[in-house]
Amino acid sequence: MSVYAAPIARLIEELEKLPGIGHKTAQRLAFHILNMPVEKVERLVKSISDAKSKTKYCSICGNLTDSDVCSLCSSNNRDDSLICVVQDARDVAAMERIKEYKGLYHVLHGAISPMEGIGPDDIRIKELLIRLQNKDVKEVIIATNPNIEGEATAMYISKLLKPLGIKTTRIAHGVPVGGDLEYADEVTLAKALEGRREI
Ligand SMILES: [Zn+2]
Repeated sequence: MSVYAAPIARLIEELEKLPGIGHKTAQRLAFHILNMPVEKVERLVKSISDAKSKTKYCSICGNLTDSDVCSLCSSNNRDDSLICVVQDARDVAAMERIKEYKGLYHVLHGAISPMEGIGPDDIRIKELLIRLQNKDVKEVIIATNPNIEGEATAMYISKLLKPLGIKTTRIAHGVPVGGDLEYADEVTLAKALEGRREI
């Protein structure tokens, strides 16, 4: 039995399920929340539930948005002849932080991983091909993570795009092998984009 009253124990248990939160941190957060004024707790709860209920995937690129088409896809200031393919919506945010890239994105929502049973049909590759048929895209930049799954996905996509005659490049230098794009700093990521090579 827990040393805490049941509602507190439940809160700690839920917080502990979040990534990067161990038991001690969960306890600390739970007691922090308990000490907060009730309005602040309500605001926190509302922000969590709003973020979940009011966002969806952009019908074009798959990025997270609160409208049908995201602000990047609907912008007139983006170069729609360039599409940068990333694994995750967080990678779009990472790329946007470097402020160098002016094209559009395509979020795959994962990478090919035979180990985990994730095949090409389980990620948004089909949607990418449909997009390429309808648009005058000159270059597809593949910015999947530089690990086994990311590389396998990059190779798979480049093979599919070859017959279409669309220039396919892969970001290269700077991003640490085995790392996540999301955690690369801005300079590293800018270098990686600049040093992309054709595949
Ligand atoms: Zn979009």
